[in-house]
Amino acid sequence: MKVTIDSDLCQGHGVCMGECPEVFEVNDDGEVTLLQEQPDAALQKKTQNAARFCPTGAISLT
Ligand code: SF4
Repeated sequence: MKVTIDSDLCQGHGVCMGECPEVFEVNDDGEVTLLQEQPDAALQKKTQNAARFCPTGAISLT
């Protein structure tokens, strides 16, 4: 599984970091950093939840 973030859609809500802080980090300025582009299978469920609950649909999983 590969994770991508559309920075044009991201509004820095931080929901992704709340769901999966191992993969997503959002700083105080609302800028999101992808800590792992290809997370382990053990993080799959949490990463999927981050994508599902992102309010702007900025996270894509392939
Ligand atoms: S939840 Fe979505 S909009 Fe919010 S910081 Fe994460 S990627 Fe960006």
